[in-house]
Amino acid sequence: DAAINRIAAGEVLERPASAVKELVENAIDAGSNRIEVVIADGGKTLIRVTDDGCGIAPADLPLALSRHATSKIDGSDLLNINSFGFRGEALPSLGAVGRLTITSRVDGTEAAAISVAGGQATNPRPAALSTGTVVELRDMFYATPARLKFLRTDRAEGQAISDVVKRLAMAEPFVSFVLRDASGGDNRTTFRADAETGDLFDALHGRLRTVLGKDFAENALSIDARRDGFHLTGYAALPTYSRGAAVAQFLFVNGRPVRDKMLLGALRAAYMDVLSRDRHPVAALFVDCDPTLVDVNVHPAKSEVRFREPATVRGLIISGLRHALAEAGH
Ligand code: ADP
Ligand code: MG
Repeated sequence: DAAINRIAAGEVLERPASAVKELVENAIDAGSNRIEVVIADGGKTLIRVTDDGCGIAPADLPLALSRHATSKIDGSDLLNINSFGFRGEALPSLGAVGRLTITSRVDGTEAAAISVAGGQATNPRPAALSTGTVVELRDMFYATPARLKFLRTDRAEGQAISDVVKRLAMAEPFVSFVLRDASGGDNRTTFRADAETGDLFDALHGRLRTVLGKDFAENALSIDARRDGFHLTGYAALPTYSRGAAVAQFLFVNGRPVRDKMLLGALRAAYMDVLSRDRHPVAALFVDCDPTLVDVNVHPAKSEVRFREPATVRGLIISGLRHALAEAGH
């Protein structure tokens, strides 16, 4: 089983940012209002995610670490997925690639902790924690120096983590996020987004302002278009607010951050006539549809999706954005 976990780990966990993604998604699924991520050395030596969600009962801690044990799906309908997690793979995989400790408390019960290293889990032990869950992963890939060598510089890995946290923060404007860097005994806040209030539209706009900046939020075109069961919403920047790199393209399908080639291609195509080739549009776009119209189960890391009708979605994005650009005089 430890060997299976290591193989699965290679698929889901390529780098510290993939671990952060899985842990923050778990915290979101747990209904947290506040999520804190602390990393050190680009996440290579430390990743700690603290949340104030529902917690894990002591008796369930060993279960959370066993393969394909998920509390989020009943196995009958893989296409109908509402939470982020649905494979029950993240925690066992993390236990296979680093030194993992989970401390958790369900309201009204005692807190407990469990540790895993090299695939060997301890029994749950009493612990001190007021609420929620703390998952700490130390020394990722310490047992596989070959994998460790493939990682990029601490700075680059830290950037990738920041990117993951920002994407998830954009998807969950009512949740507060803090990212801190504890390298060398430091404790620097590198990203912070306080929980937004109001309706979803206001909340999203406020969160965009935090993540993409005041300029973007104040000059973005608001998008709202529908076609054949697909709903496109969000914000897109005027061509004058484009960037030299594609770092500010945030795409979501049914509330999940994705990096899908088809969607990115459609975004590019929408701006083709108004942007030179070396510029990249800035946008935060949300595609929502019935879960049966999209398969998010394509890759373990879950950032690619497969639509039943890709041409419809591509057409919707292109026409929705072009319409908004034209109305703004472009
Ligand atoms: P999945 O998210 O696919 O269910 P994971 O391996 O990521 O699988 O997590 C296993 C289980 O552990 C989850 O189904 C959930 O019940 C529990 N769990 C993990 N992280 C948390 C958390 N932060 N708060 C509450 N429960 C959690
Ligand atoms: Mg999960």
